[in-house]
Amino acid sequence: MTSAAYLAHAGQKVLLFEKNMECGGLVNSFTRDGFHFDSGVRALEDAGIIFAMLKDLDIQLEVVKSPVSLGIENEILHIENLESLSKYRELLIKLFPDCEGEIEELVKIIRKIMKHMDVLYGIENPVFKDLKRHRAFIFKKLLPWLPKFIFTVGKINRMNIPVEEYLKTFVKNPSLRDIISQHFFKNTPTFFALSYFSLYLDYFYPKGGVAKLPEALKNKIIESGGEIKTETKIIKVIADKCLVKDQNNFIYQYDNLIWAADLKTLYKITETEGLLPKIKTIFEESKNKMLKNRGGDSVFSLFLEVDEPLESFRKIANGHFFYTPSKLGLGETHRGELNHLLTNFEKVEKDQILAWLDKFTRLNTYEISIPGLKDPELVPPCKTGIIISFLAEYDLFNKIQKAGWLDEFISELENRVLSVISDSVYPMLKDKIIARFSFTPLSIEHRVGSSEGAITGWAFQKSMPVINKIQNSDHSVLTPLPSIFQAGQWAYSPAGVPMSILTGKLAADKALKKIRKFKNS
Ligand SMILES: Cc1cc2nc3c(=O)[nH]c(=O)nc-3n(C[C@H](O)[C@H](O)[C@H](O)COP(=O)(O)OP(=O)(O)OC[C@H]3O[C@@H](n4cnc5c(N)ncnc54)[C@H](O)[C@@H]3O)c2cc1C
Repeated sequence: MTSAAYLAHAGQKVLLFEKNMECGGLVNSFTRDGFHFDSGVRALEDAGIIFAMLKDLDIQLEVVKSPVSLGIENEILHIENLESLSKYRELLIKLFPDCEGEIEELVKIIRKIMKHMDVLYGIENPVFKDLKRHRAFIFKKLLPWLPKFIFTVGKINRMNIPVEEYLKTFVKNPSLRDIISQHFFKNTPTFFALSYFSLYLDYFYPKGGVAKLPEALKNKIIESGGEIKTETKIIKVIADKCLVKDQNNFIYQYDNLIWAADLKTLYKITETEGLLPKIKTIFEESKNKMLKNRGGDSVFSLFLEVDEPLESFRKIANGHFFYTPSKLGLGETHRGELNHLLTNFEKVEKDQILAWLDKFTRLNTYEISIPGLKDPELVPPCKTGIIISFLAEYDLFNKIQKAGWLDEFISELENRVLSVISDSVYPMLKDKIIARFSFTPLSIEHRVGSSEGAITGWAFQKSMPVINKIQNSDHSVLTPLPSIFQAGQWAYSPAGVPMSILTGKLAADKALKKIRKFKNS
């Protein structure tokens, strides 16, 4: 959508295809029984990107801050400012009194990373500035910032190792390590993971729900003369003829194509027959790399309509809440033990999986979002809508579906999550649920066509099939195919909403540059 908005704004003829009825993909919301829910990301992080894009495109979006709370067992911390890090330190020491030295070290590292983040996001991202029109920005902000940025990038790249491994070098207590890191994706690069304290302070929420962001972009695209075709799924790319085909076999010609969806899909559905042999070879090499890699972790989300006023929940925590009911930590539950179950799935009894589920739900960390606490208009009077989610393994849901008991498994999972949360942080939940339903990793795969139901692109593996160094991000949007660019969560790693937007802009810039070069030649 960012690419389409920029290209339409630049006067290009733009056609955006979206397979669903609504645009926005994993930035989306829906209403059920008068309750508003966000189906993908729960709140947005600016990261020096989103507001810069909105300003550059002259898009108005009414937003509120989305404060975060962190909770472990009975201890709850509301993150208000940089000083909250000291309170986080106290909270951890209270729970792990024998680990004071390790906690001090952790806090020192987080503080350092927060300084790096201040540099990284310290100015509006220059990609969204028309530097010809903003010369003062170049001299007053960009040039003084660049040396600091280069220095910081060096530091960041040195912290690229998986956070689990990094923490082991100085945190000996495995429970403490889990409490710090278990709500991150497997093998998340250390810098990205430990920057969360800065990110918690950065969250904002569009009034009316996160879908207001894609809605604003959609209006911009249309207002600028772009066209949007919803319920239109691209099923074939014929690269040598610059054609795409949709599910109804309609064919569309393009001068430039920006693919902003799952990259494995692009490589699977692209025909390269008439292209030069050299291009075909590079394409096949890239395809092999892509198909060998996996999407990263997915998520399970439980949606609740609750007959209890917002105030009852407001007293406990903010509308965006990371809660861990037990300080024991997941240990090997979601790694070795789950792998064992999955590898031996044919021999494993249902009861063994349910026993594992007991432990998994008791020890996990939950991301709890209450949209009404951010915008009270999003719920019926005296009621509360809640979304409880946690990272979930796609393969588990996939195997259970194939074994024919997915609905039963989902119901067992929902029951356990509800009992863990109402036995701990929200006791009033127990008898107040009007309705409940959930989305699994399979729903995400089905909905946005994302490999393995991934929510932030590629799994963090040793060999990454796309660019993963910030200084090379400009190249992340290039593909081996002529006139095809890539954008979104699969184009760069680590990804999320800001990076999807940034790559969208970079891809639009590359396409425009190509168009202008062609015109002038
Ligand atoms: C529960 C949850 C929490 C999250 N939390 C955060 C967070 O805190 N911070 C953060 O930065 N990110 C977070 N994310 C991730 C973030 O939402 C995504 O990384 C980001 O929105 C991806 O955007 P995208 O446009 O690249 O891809 P998508 O949102 O997947 O969009 C791709 C679009 O392409 C469409 N499409 C796919 N295939 C086709 C086809 N063949 N033809 C036509 N259309 C097609 C899809 O329907 C979809 O609309 C979260 C996600 C979830 C689900």
